[in-house]
Amino acid sequence: MKWIIGAFLHETNNFSVVPTGLEAFRAQTFKTGPEIIQWARGTRTTVGGFIDAIEGRGDLIIPTLAAAATPSGLVTREAYDIIADTILKGISRHPDADGILLDLHGAMMAEGIEDGEGHLLEKIREVYNPNRPVVVVLDLHSHVTRKMLTHATLLIGYQTYPHTDTYERGVEAVRLIARIAAGEITPVYAVEQPPILPPCSTCNTQSGLYQSLWKEALRPQRPAAILSTSLFAGFPHADHPDAGFTVLSYATDSASAKNETDHLSEILNRRRSEFLYTPTPIDEAVSRAIACPQKPVIISDMSDNPGGGSANDSVEILKELLKRGQTDAAVATIYDPQTVEAATAAGVGNPIEARLGAKTDSLHGRPLDIKAVVENLADGRFQYKGPMTRGAWGNMGPTAVLNIDGIRAIVTSERIQARDPEMFRVCGEEPAAVGILVLKSAVHFRAAFENIAKEILIADGPGLTACDLTRLPYQRIRRPMFPID
Ligand SMILES: [Zn+2]
Repeated sequence: MKWIIGAFLHETNNFSVVPTGLEAFRAQTFKTGPEIIQWARGTRTTVGGFIDAIEGRGDLIIPTLAAAATPSGLVTREAYDIIADTILKGISRHPDADGILLDLHGAMMAEGIEDGEGHLLEKIREVYNPNRPVVVVLDLHSHVTRKMLTHATLLIGYQTYPHTDTYERGVEAVRLIARIAAGEITPVYAVEQPPILPPCSTCNTQSGLYQSLWKEALRPQRPAAILSTSLFAGFPHADHPDAGFTVLSYATDSASAKNETDHLSEILNRRRSEFLYTPTPIDEAVSRAIACPQKPVIISDMSDNPGGGSANDSVEILKELLKRGQTDAAVATIYDPQTVEAATAAGVGNPIEARLGAKTDSLHGRPLDIKAVVENLADGRFQYKGPMTRGAWGNMGPTAVLNIDGIRAIVTSERIQARDPEMFRVCGEEPAAVGILVLKSAVHFRAAFENIAKEILIADGPGLTACDLTRLPYQRIRRPMFPID
């Protein structure tokens, strides 16, 4: 059999002033045709899962395009159209394909297109046989829309946050699409979208309510009629009418799908207050980190997490560490291409003076005037080696390690979430040997850093991805929405 594959991922934070153009995709992932297979084979990504499972069946892969960018503001219409058209052209050239497998995010917005994934799926149905299956793997932070449900045969969400099961969901998608194409099953769905929009920090699936929900959803005695269950948290840092939680079950009959969705929704509604969370003010987080007898301590700068579309350039925690005279600390990462240019011009071992950070907007604190020594320079390319997307490549862009009164700041030319120790190692730093690590990541860092951290603190700094959602000027989400109202 023959399966078309494609990937188009962007988590759009439409509060961000940073537009997402084609160059943002080219900086991270932009692969066409057979390049996709070379790029993803052997990686723990969704597309890596598609490839292994399709080849394992002895089937043929028809690759179209794989594109992904760091979360940021609206995708430009030009970038959206170029990527979507390439996927659509790839599909129209193979009308005889048995099905389409897509790796999408589920919270993408483009200029003039509010539902990036729904719009793409609708267009796909215009060029592809409506009776053949289209199975989509989505991020756990997806806003699931009617268009997506209507035009996809099956939507499968990640089951973990940190997202360590992307590969498994890719494999599962192939297994299910093959059964659908063979006429063995015809999935029907039931969906509930309660007005709950939890902050990212409490959606960790390793503990708390989300862990219990998943345990129940995947219980061994789950009815055999259930084909797939997804518990989408939604993406809270976007002003979108479909923002919020989605409980989605597919089954071989509608009564089973409905019973399962109702059962899980009841638990979610009854226990939703467990999603409430109060992070620690910066000064208190730094005091607690200093006082901790065992190191390293991780301070998550969750409010400035580029993995949720923040500016990635707040230096507020760095300022506090400097104020306390700390010298055994590192901050990853600070997006500031101008400072990287200055450091590159100065060269390794030389001093520079710079105005560091807070250049994107006024929502991520104020810049910091520094006198630093350029400790290292790197091209910023690294391979993820932690449990999340292992084997895939990431790109910090040209990167400088600055030593500011002893504290090392990893300053980058691309926005990228600090979720893998390799981001330190390619710059010549060993994170396990640093006393206090400040990471711009809300939850994903846990996958690869939790085993070295003696303590983890979540700091409440300024930024677009703050835990306190009441700081965001929502206009279009459903109201009342828990926990905002
Ligand atoms: Zn996510």
